[in-house]
Amino acid sequence: MFDLAAHPHRRLNPLTREWVLVSPHRTKRPWQGQVEKKARAQLPPYDAGCYLCPGNERAGGRWNPPYTGTFVFDNDFAALLPATPAGSFEKAGLLVADAEPGLCRVICFSPRHDLTVSRMELGQVRQVADVWAEQFAELAAKPFLNYVQIFENRGAMMGCSNPHPHCQIWASHSIPNEIVKETNSQLAYLTTHGSPLLDDYLNLELASGERLVLENEHFAVVVPFWAIWPFETIVLPKRHVTGIDLFTSGERAALASILKRITTRYDNLFETSFPYSMGFHQRPTDGAAHLEWCFHAHFYPPLLRSATVKKFMVGYEFLACPQRDITAEAAAARLRELSERHYLEEED
Ligand SMILES: [Zn+2]
Ligand SMILES: [Zn+2]
Ligand SMILES: [Zn+2]
Repeated sequence: MFDLAAHPHRRLNPLTREWVLVSPHRTKRPWQGQVEKKARAQLPPYDAGCYLCPGNERAGGRWNPPYTGTFVFDNDFAALLPATPAGSFEKAGLLVADAEPGLCRVICFSPRHDLTVSRMELGQVRQVADVWAEQFAELAAKPFLNYVQIFENRGAMMGCSNPHPHCQIWASHSIPNEIVKETNSQLAYLTTHGSPLLDDYLNLELASGERLVLENEHFAVVVPFWAIWPFETIVLPKRHVTGIDLFTSGERAALASILKRITTRYDNLFETSFPYSMGFHQRPTDGAAHLEWCFHAHFYPPLLRSATVKKFMVGYEFLACPQRDITAEAAAARLRELSERHYLEEED
């Protein structure tokens, strides 16, 4: 009898229509609860050498104002530039390139150098949620921008050298790969089923509870059935909303709250400031309504077994297909049992 908890199998990601190989027989051992007590990196609340702290100098002789809440600025090393001229290149259908105008911004979440979303005051995270919505609406209104990607890279393991709490916005003329895949899948699903893909998916997850990590009035966090990263999660709204600009004030507050709660659980998992890439996926801003699109957030955390042991995407994963040992159900169970009181506060 085929058993998802025992036999090697592959699972479909209906958003990308790609598969992940799951090898649960390799994790027969019970969870060992290994927690490496890391030296608490005591960051100062203000760092004179940080280009994101209030009042400091950035690259190119620009200075940050003495901000006290959130602070948004155009990235000094932007990967995309608004003044990029239109143009394309093509040879024999094999060498193909298009000019890519766009815009990159940075949002500082807090003047405090030493905080993270998990440890910020809820009211401050709420301010950040408001800024996300404002920025999305502002950039969505620019005709040359057709997709707005908001994302946070957290931790040196994710290539983020600056611990100051911040995220980035990269808004582009073209629609990026992942968004093209998710648009096509959601559109096909809506056309076939008459309801949005992720709304139906959330209903399945709420009914089963197997992969549900936590929820509040407006959002739920689940380890997706097709997760690739060991403790990957997806944050889903309970109402059909295509973009962050369309949430009510109450929903933005609930989004802030659930993000603080899941990042606290992540920190508590290995008692470390948990690294991740987090980002919102939402409707393209090309002027169409995109009713197929359900706003959601992906958390892609690399850690596997401890504060230092990460999952590597190498070998078979590079060349063939992603693979995991611990099932999504086991990962969700592990995340469910964690406290929402931050481990750094428990020891005070
Ligand atoms: Zn700083
Ligand atoms: Zn929806
Ligand atoms: Zn997505």
